[in-house]
Amino acid sequence: MSRFLLSLDQGTTSSRAIVFDSEGKHCASAQREFKQHFPQPGWVEHNPSDIWQTTLECGRQAIADAGLTATDIAAIGITNQRETTLIWDKATGEPVYPAIVWQDRRTAEICQDFSDSAEAISEKTGLLLDPYFSATKIRWILDHVEGAQQRAEAGELLFGTVDTWLLWNLTGGRSHQTDATNASRTMLFNIHQQCWDDDLLALFNIPACILPEVKDSASDFGASDPTWFGEAITIGGIAGDQQAALIGQGCFTEGMVKSTYGTGCFVILNTGKRALQSSHRLLTTVGYRINGEVTYALEGSIFMAGATIQWIRDGLRLIGDASDSQSLAEATGYDNPVYMVPAFAGLGAPYWDADARGAMFGLTRDTGIKEIVTAGLQAVCYQTRDLLEAMAGDGVDAGELRVDGGMVVNDWLMQFLADVLGIRITRPRVTETTALGAAYLAGLTAGLYSTLEEVGDLWQYEQSFEPELNQERREALYDGWKNAVSRICRPV
Ligand code: ADP
Repeated sequence: MSRFLLSLDQGTTSSRAIVFDSEGKHCASAQREFKQHFPQPGWVEHNPSDIWQTTLECGRQAIADAGLTATDIAAIGITNQRETTLIWDKATGEPVYPAIVWQDRRTAEICQDFSDSAEAISEKTGLLLDPYFSATKIRWILDHVEGAQQRAEAGELLFGTVDTWLLWNLTGGRSHQTDATNASRTMLFNIHQQCWDDDLLALFNIPACILPEVKDSASDFGASDPTWFGEAITIGGIAGDQQAALIGQGCFTEGMVKSTYGTGCFVILNTGKRALQSSHRLLTTVGYRINGEVTYALEGSIFMAGATIQWIRDGLRLIGDASDSQSLAEATGYDNPVYMVPAFAGLGAPYWDADARGAMFGLTRDTGIKEIVTAGLQAVCYQTRDLLEAMAGDGVDAGELRVDGGMVVNDWLMQFLADVLGIRITRPRVTETTALGAAYLAGLTAGLYSTLEEVGDLWQYEQSFEPELNQERREALYDGWKNAVSRICRPV
C-alpha cells in the first residue's frame, strides 16, 4: 500500500509542495514564487496559469526529490490562499480574466451597493460584507468582461477559488468541485444549511450553474490526469490555508485554538458544532467538514505581527535581523515602560477602527532600541489576548494555544505570550502545519487513518511554554496596553 501523501500548498506569493509519510514526517519539498500584478492602486491579480504551472512543477519536484514515483503517493491534498477568484471557459479551460486576489480592494464600491443586506449576508455566511470575499469579485468579472454574464447564464463559464482551479486542471477538466471550508469564504455559501444560498445568488445575480459542487474536506475529489505525475493519483483532501493549519495542528475539540504568526497573524478557534455569531465582528467559518459533519470555528486576525518586526528592521533599521529581537527583549524584560500600538493600517478585532494609526507611549530619555523592539514583540501578544478575549465574549474560552509561523522560533515571544494569555503555548515539531493539514485530509480519504482522533494522536510538540506570571502582573501589563490603545482609537 502507498504510504506517502503529497500536499500542494498554493499561497499568495508562492506555491509549494511537500511529500509527507503517513506519520506526518516531512520527506521532501519544493517551492516556486510567482509574479504579483498590481494593475491599479488597490488591485492585486495573479496569472491563473502561474498558479497552476508553479503548483504542478512543485508537485513533480517534491515527488522526485523524495525518491518516489506517483505509485508511492496514496493521495493528494490541496490547501490554498482563500477567497481568490477565477472564472474560466468550461470548454477550453481559458480564464476570462486574471485571478482577482483576496487582498484586492476594487469591489469596495460594489460592497457599498449591498450594504442594506449586510446583516442578512452575515447571518447566512458568517462573514462581513467586504471586498475580501469572492462574491463581489465574481460580480466584478461578470460586469467587466464583455459577454461574461450571458456566457455564465448559458452555462459556458465556471467559477472557482484556487483549490477548484487546481483540481479542475489536475483532473483534466473532470472535477468541478470545492470543499466546505473554501465555499464558506465566497460569501455565497450558507454555512448553516451547507449549500449555495439561492437568496444570495439572486442578490448578487450570479448564476448557480457556474458554481462548483461542495464536498466534505476529506472526499474523493477525482483522480489526477496521468499526464501530470505519470500515474493517476486521487485528490483526497481540500481545505483553505487557515483551516488546513487548524487540522495540521490537531485542533479537533471545542476550545482548541491555533495561531499562525507570519507577516500578519490568524487565530482560529474550534467552536465544535456551534456556529457562533460574533458580537465582536469576528468571522464565523467552517473549520472542516468530515463525514458530513461540520465543525465550526471563529476566526480573527492581527494585521501587523511579523510586519511590525520587519518595520523595525527595514524601516527604522534598529536591528539587522528579525532574530535580534529576542536578545534585546531578554535584556529589556517584562517591565518595559514603552507600549507600541502598530496600527499602521488601522486596528482590527475587537476595535475595528480603520482610521486609527500607530503610536508609541511611555518614552523617556532612557528609552533605547531595546525597549522599542521589545514593545513591538509585546504588541503581538497583547493583540492575541484581545482576540481571545473577544472569542471568550462570544462564548468559547480558549484552552491551550498551538502556534506556528515564522515568528514562533522566538522563545522570549512564546513565553511572554503564555504569560499575557495565562494559558499554555505549544509549538509543534512539524511547523508546516498548513501543508500537513491538507495531507492529513488526503490520508483520511486514502484510508491511511480511520478517524480524526488517530490524526490528532500524530501531533507532536517540540516545546511548550507555561504561564509563570501571577494574575496581578498579567493584568497590569495588559491594562497598560488597553490604555495605550484607548488613546489612539475610538472607544469600543
Ligand atoms: P509569511 O508566511 O507571512 O511570509 P513567515 O511565517 O515566513 O511569514 O514569517 C516571517 C515573519 O516572521 C517576518 O515578518 C519576520 O519579521 C518574523 N520573524 C522571523 N524570525 C523572527 C524572530 N526570531 N523573532 C521575531 N520575528 C521573527
